[in-house]
Amino acid sequence: LNMLKADVAVPIPIDTPLTYLIPSELQESIGVGTQVVVPVRNKVVTGVVCDVAPHEGDVAGLKSIREIASAPRFASELMKLARWISEYYIAPIGEVLGAMSPPHPRLRRVYRLLRKPGSLELEIMRASHPEHVCVLEALSGDRPLTLETIRRKTRLKGIARHLGSLEEGGYVSHQVFAGKRRGRRTKSRADSPPVDTELDSGFQLTQEQSEAYEGIAAAIDRGRSATFLLFGVTGSGKTEVYLRSIDHAVKKGRRAVYLVPEIGLTPQIMDRVRRRFGDRCGVLHSRLSSGERYSTWADIQSGRIDVVVGARSAIFAPVENLGVIIVDEEHDASYKQQESPRYNAREVAIVRAKEAGAVVILGSATPTIESYHNAVTGKYRLHELPERISGGDLPAVSVIDMRTTRDESPFSKEAQGSIGASVGREEQILLFLNRRGFSNYVQCRECGIVPRCRNCQVSLTYHLGRKVLRCHYCGYAERGWETCPKCGGTNIEYVGSGTQKVEEYISENFAEVSCVRFDRDSTRRKGSAESLLSDFSNGLVRFLVGTQMVAKGHDFRKVGLVVVVNADVSMNLPDFRAGERTFQILTQVAGRAGRGEVPGKVLIQTFNPDHHSLAHAACHDFKGFYEQEVLMRRDLRYPPFSRLARIVVESRRQESAKRAAEGFVSVAKALRDESIPGLDVMGPSRAPLSKIRNNYRWHLLLKGEERKSLSPFIRRCLRELDSRRLAEAARFSIDIDPQVMM
Ligand SMILES: [Zn+2]
Ligand SMILES: [Zn+2]
Repeated sequence: LNMLKADVAVPIPIDTPLTYLIPSELQESIGVGTQVVVPVRNKVVTGVVCDVAPHEGDVAGLKSIREIASAPRFASELMKLARWISEYYIAPIGEVLGAMSPPHPRLRRVYRLLRKPGSLELEIMRASHPEHVCVLEALSGDRPLTLETIRRKTRLKGIARHLGSLEEGGYVSHQVFAGKRRGRRTKSRADSPPVDTELDSGFQLTQEQSEAYEGIAAAIDRGRSATFLLFGVTGSGKTEVYLRSIDHAVKKGRRAVYLVPEIGLTPQIMDRVRRRFGDRCGVLHSRLSSGERYSTWADIQSGRIDVVVGARSAIFAPVENLGVIIVDEEHDASYKQQESPRYNAREVAIVRAKEAGAVVILGSATPTIESYHNAVTGKYRLHELPERISGGDLPAVSVIDMRTTRDESPFSKEAQGSIGASVGREEQILLFLNRRGFSNYVQCRECGIVPRCRNCQVSLTYHLGRKVLRCHYCGYAERGWETCPKCGGTNIEYVGSGTQKVEEYISENFAEVSCVRFDRDSTRRKGSAESLLSDFSNGLVRFLVGTQMVAKGHDFRKVGLVVVVNADVSMNLPDFRAGERTFQILTQVAGRAGRGEVPGKVLIQTFNPDHHSLAHAACHDFKGFYEQEVLMRRDLRYPPFSRLARIVVESRRQESAKRAAEGFVSVAKALRDESIPGLDVMGPSRAPLSKIRNNYRWHLLLKGEERKSLSPFIRRCLRELDSRRLAEAARFSIDIDPQVMM
């Protein structure tokens, strides 16, 4: 008999799959992508078969696959994608597959007695394995028992192992039952609105919309992969182009994945998608119960669903015959997962589409510098929607110079006047606070400049203890400022947050007007975000004070005034994308004004009125911003002119973290050769968040010229580090194409 073995990826952080024998009765039904139950150490876990091969030689020491899990099989296309993610993002394949599949509903394992041992057998068993006798006694009633019950009854350790050997001896057998499988799907289907397959026949696309749609439809017909960048201002009708493209694909017998950056945005998109595609659509995101996700997954796999809507992880939906992938708000940093596997759903979409011959549509009012660069250099196809379809004008934006404000108020005189007038007109007002986040920077209140690194151009972080300014990319340091090197001013400020001051100001001056705060703290409770937002949308609340969360996608009709209280915070993050983030945030926030009948007005308060992000955001000029930003990126070799990898080293001991980070740098410099063109090693230095949960954090950056050589090089470095034992007592996290530098 030919023995077969399988390499099984298990969801624990080890680099390679584990090898198991395939029992002969399962050989027919196990292949690449099958989910199987295997023993690991003293546990039993579900893993995915990555490879099947004949086994020659000794079987001693090899464990066997227990059974086939009651979970769907991964199609070969998804297995291939998993391998790419694992290699490119340097993540264990088991972790990648774990992130790709929905969590398994709770499995109940039920055991029953098959036959009782004879009296002689029983004597032998009592002598050699007294525990087995206990287990058989527990099972001697007629009812089958779950593993937990048997454990409780016998109070034995290693109960799964005992049951395993009793099963091999033919005394017991077991069955596996999945927990609740069907979720609330039936209910939500009953709720769905009538289907409108006629695609709003009265609805006329604008010239630009139809050009974009025609281009995309033609690409879908060709069946070769292509990436489109749909660059359209807020309110320009991007969604209509997405929906028609999906409709075109579905009519050709193909399917679609529609990604949105925030789970909170899925219901409003789902409504529109349901109106077009009725029952043949589903939603996938991490806030659904495991039963709901699991059953949607199964529906997709069996071909009952044509359109999948969801956040980041929906890119792994097991859709066959994929025709189009939408990545809405493609610039949004939430497409990047911040824990391992640290994949970017936008990049994964493009890789997946290539394999499937599908079309990717990236849409944004503020595309990333990388995507726009790819579009102007011809790698992506660019379509622009320069006007709002309602014909409404973009709001008037004024930049207010705070350097002239001497008093303690968080608002300039001009802003105070506008707020008062707006309250008088009974309009709604949105007060936007840049996320507090990490803001230990220093600023001259007289001329507004912030100290920056001469090598990296990122802002320097102020360290109170040693009174030094430090660059968190390259480690450059200088003495803290006492006077401003530019204007000689002595009014140097440590910048913190103004949230409280803003609320105080409102309650002192407009006590009779209702105000809510919308941020991570006030919306932690499930459903509270929705109720706060609907109170505001319905006009029950007049002031909304909020952070980044309010900027995304919400359509407020009665907002007459938007005040950006502190534009400088995002501008001065120690991150080379600080300017880009600021431009994106300001453009999105400004887009909340003037969407209804009320003409919008936007005020941006800043100590840096000449900063290019502000100047261009104020006149809704993405291209101007891009032209300037891309020059800086080229000069300093930041993406899109290089690829970055960030390596974070953590340890309980400062010294160990530092030594391991230095070890990596020296290994990287020693191994550097022509296989990795343009390699630049920056750091190590303390990470901006230098201590989290009692772990000291150091980091370093690698810059390389090409996408494909960086990851293999980092693997080589890690192996070398391991063999020289340079990294003991420290933990490495690798982030390829990092979005966050904290
Ligand atoms: Zn100054
Ligand atoms: Zn630097």
